[in-house]
Formats: sequence, C-alpha cells, structure tokens
Amino acid sequence: MPFRFLAHFLIVLAMGAAQAKSVALTFDDGLDPDKEPRAADWNAAILGTLERHDIRSMVFPSLRHTGGVAGRALVADWSKAGHLVGNHTSQHRNLGSPKLSAAEFIGHVKEAEAAFAPLPGWRPLLRFPYLKEGETAAKRDEVRAWMKANGYRPAPVSIDASDWYYDEVFRKHAAADRGRLKAAYVRHLLDRADYYDGLAREVLGRSPPHVLLLHTSALNAAFLEDIIRAFREAGWTLVPPQEAFADPLYGREPAILPAGEGIVWAVAKEKGVAGLRYPAEDSRYEKPILEAAGLLPAGSP
Ligand SMILES: [Zn+2]
Repeated sequence: MPFRFLAHFLIVLAMGAAQAKSVALTFDDGLDPDKEPRAADWNAAILGTLERHDIRSMVFPSLRHTGGVAGRALVADWSKAGHLVGNHTSQHRNLGSPKLSAAEFIGHVKEAEAAFAPLPGWRPLLRFPYLKEGETAAKRDEVRAWMKANGYRPAPVSIDASDWYYDEVFRKHAAADRGRLKAAYVRHLLDRADYYDGLAREVLGRSPPHVLLLHTSALNAAFLEDIIRAFREAGWTLVPPQEAFADPLYGREPAILPAGEGIVWAVAKEKGVAGLRYPAEDSRYEKPILEAAGLLPAGSP
C-alpha cells in the first residue's frame, strides 16, 4: 500500500512539473500627467502593487504617450523601483503601414533611446507598437538588420490580450458593474494565457517562460492586484522579464508577412498551424462577449 501511495505521489509531482507555467508582466506606453490628471496616481498604483508582491517588471514607454518632463519622470519612477525600461519608439507608429518607412521607424527608435537610455533600468529591447513588424520583407528585414548592428534585441510578447479595450470600456462605463467587469477582464487574461501556452506546447513542444502584454492604464492600476492573485491561483509563477527574454523563443525571427503579432502566434503562423485569427487579438472578439455579459450596451461603438 505505501508503495502505491508513493507512486501516486510521484505521478502528481510529474504532472505538476509538466504543467509548471511562468510569466513576466510587461507594461507598454507610459502616461502623460499633462493630458491625464490621474496619470501619476495610476502609475503609483501599478508600481505599489508590483512592490507589494515583490514582482520585477518592465515598462516600454513611447514619447507619444508620456509627453514631456512630467510623463518621463513617471517612467523614471519605474527605473528607481528596480524595473527595466525598454524602447517603444517616440511616435508609436505602425510599422505594418505602407505610410511608414523603415528609415523613419528607426529614427523614432533613436528618439526614444535618447530620452530613456540615461535611466539605470534602460535596456536596448524593442517592443514594436501594435506588435507590427512590417508588411513587406524589405521593411521587416531592414529593421531587423539595424537592430542587430545596433545592439538591440526584440522584446516580443508571447501572450497578447486586449487589456487596452477593457480599459476603454472601464473608463467609459465605470458606473456599470465594476466587479463584474473586473471578473470578465481577469478571465480574459487567464483565457489568453492558457490559449497561448497551449499553442506554445503545440508548436514548441514545451511551455516557455511567457511574456504578457499589459498597458500602463487606469484599468491595470485598479485591477493589477486581482490579476496577480488570479494568475498565481491558476498555477502561474511570476518571473522577472530578463529571465523570460533570455529564452531563445524571444530571439526568433519568424519569416511571415505581415510580420509581427505575439511571438508564439508568429511561430505557429510560420509553421502553418490552421485556425489562427488575424489580428491575433482585437476588440472585435471581445465586444460581443462584453455585450452578451451586459457590460457594454449593444450597438455601442
Ligand atoms: Zn503601445
């Protein structure tokens, strides 16, 4: 009998190891106190929650979102608190648009670097705005070559989600049922995390340390505590971004066009996995869910 218990115990242990999942939280864009009076409060709330949970994170600010001195000071607060700071370009333009050349885009990368490279937390990691990396091979490869020649590594996400859309709903319909919106949002993040972890196991044969895309928003200022708890309860370990980015997955350069989206999605696309949607994540998928839940008036824009 004891042997059977031991065998059972070992099987449970092995299953646990097979299902071990880890994720790093990253936050895009930054905030501008000159445009949003609550910007400093939201920034402090996100940093405070990370501190309370002893989590190291990374922010990818864009000058278009941070504005001038006040917004850049909020980015500096991330560095002071021990988080990393990466590049999200100055203008936050979409490299997948024919209106933006590789040369212009590289100029925007350099402008953001000039603003944030003096911070101790600075790392030459590039997060492409909208996760778009070029609609032609020429543009995609010109930027990739420039990055290599200039010491930049890409900072893709493995788990993409629509937190920006839940933030829009949260801010427009704050008087609606806040608790139910919170639950729907946390469920959405966990659902996307499970989906991309499953896709990773399918195309990589393993669960990599994941990188989750979030934004420096009112929504995450309000609900980050709940997000962290929910992920831990679902068996996720939160790891520092540099630990995740050290995985070879994040250095892969999928040969797909249009280039970009999350890295697990892009690898799956390259491998010809059927049933992938494009764009991978978007408000168009979440709107009917929120309408059906009564959290968004039907027919709202
Ligand atoms: Zn962004």
